[in-house]
Amino acid sequence: MLILLSNDDGIDSPGIAALAEVLDDLGEVWVVAPDREQSATSHSISLDRPLRGVELRPRWVAVNGTPTDCVYLAVNHLLPRKPNLVLAGINKGPNVGDDVHYSGTVAAAMEGALLGVTSAAISHAGSAPFAFGGVARAARIVTELIVGSGLPAGMLFNVNIPGGADAGSPRRLTRLGKRRYGNAVERRLDPRGRPYFWIGGDEIGFEHLEGSDGSAVAEGVVSITPIRLDMTDFGALEALRSWERP
Ligand code: MN
Repeated sequence: MLILLSNDDGIDSPGIAALAEVLDDLGEVWVVAPDREQSATSHSISLDRPLRGVELRPRWVAVNGTPTDCVYLAVNHLLPRKPNLVLAGINKGPNVGDDVHYSGTVAAAMEGALLGVTSAAISHAGSAPFAFGGVARAARIVTELIVGSGLPAGMLFNVNIPGGADAGSPRRLTRLGKRRYGNAVERRLDPRGRPYFWIGGDEIGFEHLEGSDGSAVAEGVVSITPIRLDMTDFGALEALRSWERP
């Protein structure tokens, strides 16, 4: 089995090293990850500048690009064959609810799924300082479940593992919930007196939605959310048929 790992925290992040170590005997593990932090870059792909891969050691390649660039390059060019699995992480911090739309970690997994490879984003849902030992062992268990499931290729999962979790921790299949931020925008002046804005609301917490990812991790439960890439609103598609004109 060929497993591709990527992330958005950068190839030097201890999260990706912990994941590589814990999966070592599960297959041939390749790491292709950004050469620096790329958190919250979402699904951006670099179309107008050169991308270079630097092999830091065998099967560890740092790319001067986004998480999506890394997975795209790895699957289409760098790897010896198409991988059986793409895993992104382990991210420093949760990716729950609306986070999936901003996260580079989730985007790396989405790119794997778009390329037809079963993929999962894996996040440490605790806070700094991040310890990856038990979380990585829990990630290994979820990886084994995905590999052993016999599901068709191209499935996508968003996995959040509470900070205190380990291999034997409880697990729950969840839906995306809601994470609440302060919607803060700071307006300040630069040294030349011109105004600038700084986006970055502090997180105020999760809405406790029944069966959601946020509720699971708040209870110390490993959250596994199957994600669909087809964003079509099928309800609206039917409800709005009268708009059509033959
Ligand atoms: Mn990150």
